[in-house]
Amino acid sequence: MNVCYVWDDKLIDFCDQLPAVMGRAKVVHCLIQAYGLHNKVKVVRSTPATYEELKEFHSELYLDHLKTFIDVDDDYMTSVQDEEYGIGYDCAPVSNMFGLVSHIAGSSVTASKCLVMGLADVAINWCGGWHHANRFGAEGFCYVNDVVIAIEKLRKKFSKVLYIDLDVHHGNGVQDAYNISKSVFTLSFHKYEPGFYPGTGGLNDIGTLSGTGYSCNMPLHAGYTDDTMEYAFEKVFNLVYSHFAPDAIVIQCGADALAHDPNGGAALTARSYCKCVRMVLDKRKPSMLLGGGGYQHSNAARLWTCITAMVAGVELDEQIPEHIYWPEYGPTYTIAIDPTLIKDANKSCYIEDCINTIKGNLEKYLGKSSHAEPVVKRLKSKIENAKETLRLDSKKIHKDKNKFRNTSVGIHNMVKHAQDQTNHRSKIVDKSDVYDFVE
Ligand SMILES: [Zn+2]
Repeated sequence: MNVCYVWDDKLIDFCDQLPAVMGRAKVVHCLIQAYGLHNKVKVVRSTPATYEELKEFHSELYLDHLKTFIDVDDDYMTSVQDEEYGIGYDCAPVSNMFGLVSHIAGSSVTASKCLVMGLADVAINWCGGWHHANRFGAEGFCYVNDVVIAIEKLRKKFSKVLYIDLDVHHGNGVQDAYNISKSVFTLSFHKYEPGFYPGTGGLNDIGTLSGTGYSCNMPLHAGYTDDTMEYAFEKVFNLVYSHFAPDAIVIQCGADALAHDPNGGAALTARSYCKCVRMVLDKRKPSMLLGGGGYQHSNAARLWTCITAMVAGVELDEQIPEHIYWPEYGPTYTIAIDPTLIKDANKSCYIEDCINTIKGNLEKYLGKSSHAEPVVKRLKSKIENAKETLRLDSKKIHKDKNKFRNTSVGIHNMVKHAQDQTNHRSKIVDKSDVYDFVE
């Protein structure tokens, strides 16, 4: 499996300024690096999104307003106009706001390019996944909806895209963007309780007009565990997959459904996230993995490192390797995320009722599942066709040095370089190890 990992030092710096997750991006990247996972994937440099790319989703009025935030100090008082664009309440103003959104959106667009150009079967971008932002403004810690912009890029090649949201909060910004669309199916698993943000994503929230039936929500009560999640995901994902038959899949792996998250209230560990992602990747469709929420930084880093390792086929050592953020992983200093003792409020009859409703909606609005047809043969040839396209494109692109090049010696030398080192701290992504897109 070809795996691309989107990275850039400037991108990390920008992400680290996001007020809700200040400093998280570096913690995540450094753990991935400490385990040497950058040696097992193709590190692709993120390029910022252009104004035109941002306009694929956001209004010019909002984008132009973001440009007015250049130097923002602690005394900055938000104006009425700022608040109209969602800047102020849960999205505090930050310096160089336009630069921030273009870097974040660009990182997910870079992941899309990897899939569209056939360079990757799986593209990973832990700096993306800001699923609450709307067309006209910021919302719920999200200043830009990189997910929608990335999906728009994917649609240049893949006609049907399935978006799956594992964040503890409903993926409202993405669902709203595709509420009337039949081409993008949105599926969200989240905590749904009175007063819990954003308050949308109920079982009967299924899209509108021509998109009726093309949104699906699995609203869960507090304390959902790995067992509950794995069971519900397996049933619901397979139903959606067989009815919708996507050409590409985007998974938002928001880490705030992990046990102990200060903004969460669920009780997952990395086990269920990895199993869910595995079920998706087993379908062998071009797939993008994005980050999102996750407010206990060390646990978000643990989770995304575990997923990266699983995708790259690497088994992780239980002990966190020594590196600059090692002290953050105390008191256990292990990769495992402790479950909590909070009670799972989801009874199995509730989960079954939800699954039955979802099944009924899919049958009603999307017609018969493809399982009802002589699918084995048809699906197989579909997969082969898709692979062939990727392979051909990939060959073409590697030959065309004007489009994509490796700035230096490539991954093999890089692995050798890493093996030559005995000190963990020298195992870092070096400029010479990164693939660049060249326009
Ligand atoms: Zn969230």
